[in-house]
Amino acid sequence: MRTLISGGAGFIGSHLCERFLKDGHEVIAVDNFITGSLENLDLLRQNPKFSFIGHDISQPLQVSGPIDNVLHFASPASPVDYLNYPIQTLKVGSLGTHVTLGIAKEKNARYLLASTSEVYGDPLEHPQKEEYWGNVNPIGLRGVYDEAKRFAEAMTMGYCRYHGVNTHIIRIFNTYGERMRLDDGRVLPNFMGQALRGEPLTIYGDGSQTRSFCYVSDLVEGICRLLKTDFHEPVNLGNPAEITIKQFADEILKLSGRSNDIVYKPLPQDDPKVRKPDITRAKNLLGWEPKIDRDAGLRQTMEFFKKKLGKS
Ligand code: NAD
Ligand code: UDP
Repeated sequence: MRTLISGGAGFIGSHLCERFLKDGHEVIAVDNFITGSLENLDLLRQNPKFSFIGHDISQPLQVSGPIDNVLHFASPASPVDYLNYPIQTLKVGSLGTHVTLGIAKEKNARYLLASTSEVYGDPLEHPQKEEYWGNVNPIGLRGVYDEAKRFAEAMTMGYCRYHGVNTHIIRIFNTYGERMRLDDGRVLPNFMGQALRGEPLTIYGDGSQTRSFCYVSDLVEGICRLLKTDFHEPVNLGNPAEITIKQFADEILKLSGRSNDIVYKPLPQDDPKVRKPDITRAKNLLGWEPKIDRDAGLRQTMEFFKKKLGKS
C-alpha cells in the first residue's frame, strides 16, 4: 500500500503518517509548512518507508508510481490560522481538493477528505447529524474556512458521482492531542499554555458555548476504518462528550494544579454556540466510538505541552 497524505506535517496529518507507517504502508507526506512543522516529522523521517514532498497542494502535483490512498488533510484549521491565511485557506479547500482528487482519479486510489463540523456553522440543530445542512454565514470571517470545506465536499461528491472515484468524507469535530502547536490559537493549546505559564486563561464570550473534544488516536482509528469501506456520504467523527468552555478552563486548571485567574474577552464573530456530534452513523457503519475519555486525553496532552515549555 502506498498512501499520500496532504498536510502530513500538521497535527492530525503527522499522526496519520505514523499510523499508516505502523500498518506497513509506504507514506508520502505533502506539506508547505504554512501551519505545520518539520519537527512533527522528526520520528517519521527515520523510517525508510516515509518520504516527504515540500509543495503547495493548491498547485498541480505529479507523483510517480502507483498510489493506493490519497488523504487530503492540508488546510489551516485553527480559526486564528485561517483568519491569518484566508486566501490560502480558500485555495487549499477548493484548488487543493481538486488537485488531490485528480491524483486519486489518475492513480485509481481511494480518497478521503478531511472536512469539518464547521460545515454545520452555528448550528440550529443539536446534536449535529450528517443530514443537517448547516447554518453558515458565507461572508462572515469564518466563511473562508467553512465555505472552502463545503465546496470541498461538493467537489468530492462530484468526483465520486461523475468520475467513479472511491471517495470518503469525514466531518471532524474538535480534535486534540500531542503535536498541536502551542501558539495555534485554538482553545486547548491556549488554555494549557496559559495554565502552565501562570498566565490568566482567556475565555471568549461568557464561556457558556459548548464543544466536544476528541482525542487524536480515536479520530485516526475512525479514519482507518472508514477508508476500508465503500461508503461515500459524510461521516461525523468526534467525541460526543459535550462541555462548556468555562468548564473546560476549570478542568485544565485543575489538571495543571494551578489557580490562575480567568479573563473574559469578546466572542469572535459567528463563534458556534453549541457543537456536539451525533455519531450514530460511525457507530453503525464502522463499529467505532471514542475510547479515550477527556481526563486521559488531557493528561497525555498536558505532558506534551509541559515538555515543550520545559516544565517537566
Ligand atoms: P494543522 O494546521 O496542524 O495541519 C494542517 C497542515 O496542512 C499543516 O501542516 C499545513 O502546513 C498544511 N497545509 C496547509 N495548506 C497547505 C497547502 N496549500 N499545501 C500543503 N500543505 C498545506 O491542522 P490540523 O488540526 O492537523 O488539521 C488537519 C485537517 O483536519 C485540516 O484539513 C482541518 O481542516 C481538518 N480538521 C481538523 C480539526 C481539528 O480539530 N483538529 C477539526 C475539523 C477539521
Ligand atoms: N476560545 C476561548 N479562549 C481561547 C480560544 C478559544 O474561549 O483562548 C473559545 C472559542 O471562542 C470557541 C471555543 O473556545 O468558542 C473553541 O475555539 P477553537 O478556536 O478551539 O475552535 P472552534 O471550535 O471555534 O473552531
